[in-house]
Amino acid sequence: MSEQTDIFPMTFVVLDMEWNQPIPYIPSPVDPKELPGEIIEIGAVKLTVKSETEYILSSPFSILVRPTYYRIMNKQVSRVINRSTEDLKHGLPFETAYRSFCDWCGEDYILCAWGDSDISILRSNLKIHDMPVEMNERFLDIQPLFGRVSENTAQQRSVAYAVDFFRIPQTNDFHSADKDAYYEARILKETLIDYFAMSQKEEGQTLPQLRYFISNPNLTVQTRWKSRVCHSEKEAVAVAIQEKMCCPICEQPLETIIDWFTSGHTSLSLWQCPVHNSLSGKVRAKKTPSQEFYGSGQLRFVNGNAARYVREKWEEKLTKECEQECEQM
Ligand SMILES: [Zn+2]
Repeated sequence: MSEQTDIFPMTFVVLDMEWNQPIPYIPSPVDPKELPGEIIEIGAVKLTVKSETEYILSSPFSILVRPTYYRIMNKQVSRVINRSTEDLKHGLPFETAYRSFCDWCGEDYILCAWGDSDISILRSNLKIHDMPVEMNERFLDIQPLFGRVSENTAQQRSVAYAVDFFRIPQTNDFHSADKDAYYEARILKETLIDYFAMSQKEEGQTLPQLRYFISNPNLTVQTRWKSRVCHSEKEAVAVAIQEKMCCPICEQPLETIIDWFTSGHTSLSLWQCPVHNSLSGKVRAKKTPSQEFYGSGQLRFVNGNAARYVREKWEEKLTKECEQECEQM
């Protein structure tokens, strides 16, 4: 028996959305930075996992949303999702559509998507409609889980790639929210089957527990800081990394997982809050108008994949240093 059997049953809500984008030469009613895309379709499929071998896929949830701000179809988007400006006149207002999606989700589920862009677009849409931006506390990005389990890679793959990988029969074109959500749910199912099969094996590669792939999308607060002005880049970075690291939420001092190290022009580090999990630190030297330097730092919450990125960079550096030492001997 695997140590993870107490997690069943689990419900995964696989969300996929389509959004329209502003048109560069038409004055935008809102700042495109605040609303990079306006949701025009919400699709989702539920995957209920009763045991390591029992999987149930729901019928798709699908709803069209009538945009408030970007009501003229962006040509590039239109080419991908095949909808016209006329089509955008139909659908429910975002608020109603999102509420009905939340009702459909029910309670106690893990929200999933392919990549993290759906979540950030959803957040910007909630914000612009003055709705609470807090969403489900557990979010799983299927893409890195697929990469890790299927190919042991951190390389980003497309949904179409993963569909081919698992030889999932293709009956529909991609790029309609409910159909994409269906394919993503099928990929998640196949990935979980492999995941549980692999994690039951005693030997071989050890997979991280599933919970390390799940993050809280509401933890978006980050800390930024600047060092004093210094004469060199090196000094600016050295000063900036002296900053005491505290959790941006509970303000507790953080435990060091990987201390500051340099990777290219950036210094990276990995930290842990006992309550709020992993954070990564990043420091770069920046130039002042008077050609001097200051260190610019950022501390933010990371999911398993982003934490692994820091770890890999650190390991790369260790290997390099080791090789250099060997050469000198
Ligand atoms: Zn904390």
